[in-house]
Amino acid sequence: MTTSASVPAGPEGAIVGTVTDRLVEANQHYASAFTDPGMDARPVLQVAVVACMDARLDLHAALGLELGDCHTIRNAGGVVTDDVIRSLTISQRALGTRSVVLIHHTGCGLESLTEEFRHELEMEVGQRPAWAVEAFRDVDQDVRQSMQRVRTSPFLLHTDDIRGFVFDVKTGLLREIDPA
Ligand SMILES: [Zn+2]
Repeated sequence: MTTSASVPAGPEGAIVGTVTDRLVEANQHYASAFTDPGMDARPVLQVAVVACMDARLDLHAALGLELGDCHTIRNAGGVVTDDVIRSLTISQRALGTRSVVLIHHTGCGLESLTEEFRHELEMEVGQRPAWAVEAFRDVDQDVRQSMQRVRTSPFLLHTDDIRGFVFDVKTGLLREIDPA
């Protein structure tokens, strides 16, 4: 396993370095056209979106969000872990958000894993991870469980506007999940 993946050669066949080099170069273009929007750190729409890290899910485009509108909290599965609760707590108590939107999606990598993944890791590295894999079989049920974890958190100020969805990676459409 390599630690620094090279990206494919550019159109002229030139070596373009690592993927991180490419990102840094893109940032230079970005910054050259950037003007300080003068925004406050508090999200304009007072909403936090918790979503899977899946590369096919472009949250801003899919939800019509603009820069500054929301907090985005992402991890593998869009699972509500203790660390997501930590971020939501800061989001609500320090930065004024009031609504929570949870987004899982079709074809999630977590559907093909099981908690056996942890056991295999332990066998390989000699140490059991402290975290759960949070794999799931039924995406609707996992959205419901995530909503429940947010709703029952003692740390959050606002738990009356929590909605959960499954994003279809083939159609781009959200399907709302009934919390019941
Ligand atoms: Zn996913």
